[in-house]
Amino acid sequence: MSLESQLKSLSLVGDLLEHAAPANNDEWASILATQTVPASYELTKTLVFKPKTPKSQTPVPVVVIALNSSATPSSVIAKATNTKDPRLAATDLVAEFFGGIAPADVGALSVTSDNAEKIKVVLDSLIAEAKDDLIVAVHPSAAAKTAFIKAVDLAAQLNATGVEVITVNFAEAASAAPAPACTPTPKKEAAPTAATDAKIDGAALIGITVDKDLDFPGWYSQILTKGEMLDYYDVSGCYIMRPASYFVWEQIQEFFNLKIKSIGVRNSYFPMFVSSRVLEKEKDHIEGFAPEVAWVTRAGKSELEEPIAIRPTSETVMYPYYAKWIRSHRDLPLKLNQWNSVVRWEFKHPQPFLRTREFLWQEGHTAHLTFDEANTEVLQILDWYEAIYRELLAVPVIKGKKTEKEKFAGGFFTTTCEGYIPTTGRGIQGATSHCLGQNFSKMFNITVENPEGPEKPKIFAWQNSWGLSTRVIGVMVMVHSDNKGLVLPPRVAETQVVVVPVGLTAKSTPEQRKEIQDSCRKIEADLAAAGVRVTGDYRDNYSPGWKFADWELRGVPLRIEFGPQDLKKQQLIAVRRDNGAKLTFGLDTFVSSVQAELEKIQVDLYDKAKASFDGHITKADSLDKFVPALNTKNVVLAPFCGEEACEDEIKDKTARQGQEGVEVDEKAPSMGAKSLCIPFDQPELAAGTKCVGCGQPAKFHTLFGRSY
Ligand SMILES: [Zn+2]
Repeated sequence: MSLESQLKSLSLVGDLLEHAAPANNDEWASILATQTVPASYELTKTLVFKPKTPKSQTPVPVVVIALNSSATPSSVIAKATNTKDPRLAATDLVAEFFGGIAPADVGALSVTSDNAEKIKVVLDSLIAEAKDDLIVAVHPSAAAKTAFIKAVDLAAQLNATGVEVITVNFAEAASAAPAPACTPTPKKEAAPTAATDAKIDGAALIGITVDKDLDFPGWYSQILTKGEMLDYYDVSGCYIMRPASYFVWEQIQEFFNLKIKSIGVRNSYFPMFVSSRVLEKEKDHIEGFAPEVAWVTRAGKSELEEPIAIRPTSETVMYPYYAKWIRSHRDLPLKLNQWNSVVRWEFKHPQPFLRTREFLWQEGHTAHLTFDEANTEVLQILDWYEAIYRELLAVPVIKGKKTEKEKFAGGFFTTTCEGYIPTTGRGIQGATSHCLGQNFSKMFNITVENPEGPEKPKIFAWQNSWGLSTRVIGVMVMVHSDNKGLVLPPRVAETQVVVVPVGLTAKSTPEQRKEIQDSCRKIEADLAAAGVRVTGDYRDNYSPGWKFADWELRGVPLRIEFGPQDLKKQQLIAVRRDNGAKLTFGLDTFVSSVQAELEKIQVDLYDKAKASFDGHITKADSLDKFVPALNTKNVVLAPFCGEEACEDEIKDKTARQGQEGVEVDEKAPSMGAKSLCIPFDQPELAAGTKCVGCGQPAKFHTLFGRSY
C-alpha cells in the first residue's frame, strides 16, 4: 500500500504539515510550536535496531515505535524481542528495508505491508493501549513532514500491515531492571541506562541526538563537533583541534613545563624527517614502529633518491646528537623535551584524539650517568602525568609498570598511567614514562669517560624517554561528558562561567533591559578581575533556554542567571553543568562563592570518576571469571606470572570465550583482555598463589582489560 493511500485510510487530524527537516525531536517540537497543530498531542519516535545476527542469516530489523517521552533502552528491546545486543541500524540497512530512505526519515508509517514480513515492531504500550483521544505526531516517511493521527488508528494501522507487533510497557520494563538472559554480552546495565535514556528525551533544542549508552562512537563524534572541540578533515585519521581543545592542551603545557623545568629539563626542537639509515639503527625499536611509519618518497614530480621517514617518535632522530654533545660525565645529565607532532600511519579505525595518524605530544629524552638517577626521574615524570590527569582533567588513573609484552620497543622498562572509560568498560593507556636502560646508548654510542679515570672503561649513558599526547583530551571528554554535551573540568575550561540575563519579556521596558544588562556586565567584570574566565551571552535573538542549551553543549562548568527578580533580591543564580544543581549567591559575595564552586566541581568530577573506576576493578583468580567481568564493563586484577607467552594465551582465550560463535561486528566488545599494567599499589600476594593464565607461580597482580 502506498503512503498516500495509507494516509487516506487513516483519519488525519488537521493538515499534513511540511516543514524543514528537524535534526532531532526537540527541534521537531520547536518547529511544530510555530505551526497550526492540534491543541494537545504527543510526539512519537521511531528507531530502527539491528540485533546481533550470525553472518549466515539475514538480519530482522526491530522497529521501535514509542512516545517521545518513553525511555527505550536497548536492553529492554533485546528482552522483548528475544534478540542479542540490538544496536541502532546503519544507514545502508535502513535504506535496504525501507525503500532507500535515511534513518531520520523512517517514521511510524514507514512500516507497510511491503516490508512487514521482513521486520518486527516493538510498540509502546502507551500507543497500543491508548484511549481514543490521544493524538500523536508522526513523520510519514519523511522527517520534513508531520501527520497528526489518533494513537488508536496508528496501532490499528500497524496491525493491518501484518507485521509482528510486540507491545512493551517501557516504564515498567525499565524499572524492572531487565538483564536479557539470552545475551552473553549485555551492552549495558539496565537501570542507569534507562535513566540516561530518559534524560536525552528532555534534551536541548540544539543538542546531542545520540545517546551515550546506545551509540558511544556516534555520541563521542557529536560531542566533539557540536561542542566545537574538533572538526573532521579530508585526510582520514587527521583532525582539526579547535580553540576549545587547544586551550586544554595549553593548560597541560603550562603545568608540565613548570614541573619539568624545575628538574632542569629544557625545551628544544628536532626535525620531523629522519633518514632510513638512522631510523633503522635500533632494530627492536624500529620493528615496533615499522608498519606505521609514513615515508616521503617524492618531491614535486621527482622521486627522492632515498625515501625519508616522518618521525613516529624521536629517539633515533635525537640520539646521534646526544652522542655528539655528550663527551664527559660533566655533560650529564642531558635533559631535553620537545612539544611537537608525530605521525603513525595506522590502519585501524581512527578515533578523534585516541587514535589519529598525526597527534600532538611532548616527548622528553634524558641521559644520565647512573641507573638510580634515571630511575628516579622516570617515576617523577609518571607522578606528574598522574597529576595532569587528576589535578587538571579530573580523571583517575592507575600507575604501574608495563609487562614485558607491552613495554616500549627497545626499552628497559615502561611505566604507565592507565585510565578507564566507564561507558565501554575499556582501559586506556594514558601516558608512558620509559627507562631505556643503556640499550640506545650502546646503539648510538652515547658514552662518557669514567669519572674514576681514563684507564677505566667508558660508561654508556642511562636514558629515559617519556611522552604524553593529546589523547588525554579524548579520555577527559569520554569520562565526564553526557547527553547534553561536553562537561569540562573548570581548570581546563576555556570559559569557566557564562552569564545569561533572564526574566526579560516583551513587556520589559528599555530601562529594565539596560539595568539587567549592566548588572550582568558588572558580574562579568568582577569575576574577570578575580581571574575567572567568564563571558556574557547578550544575544537578543535567542531565548535564555536556547542559550542554556548552547553553553551546556560546550561544557561551560557554571552558568549564572540574572534577572529582575534577582536584582530585587540582590542575588544571582548559579547552575552547575556537571550535576544541574542550582545555587543562590548573594550579590555582595558571589565572586568568592563562584571560585569555591568551581573548585568543588573540579573535585566532584574527579571523585565521581574515581568511584566509577574503583567500582569496576574486579579481582579474579581464574580465567573463567574474566569474560563475565569484562562483559559487565570491568577491568580485572589477577595474579600473573609475567611471561609473554602466557599473556598471549590469556588474550586468545578471553577473546574466544567472548564470541561464542556469534557474528562479531567491529564495535562489539569481544576482544580479548590485554594487560594494562602491573599496578605499583599491589594487593598482598599470598605464598603459593598461582598465575591466572598458566598455573605457574604468580609474581604479582596485573590489571587486565579490554583496551583502546
Ligand atoms: Zn602465567
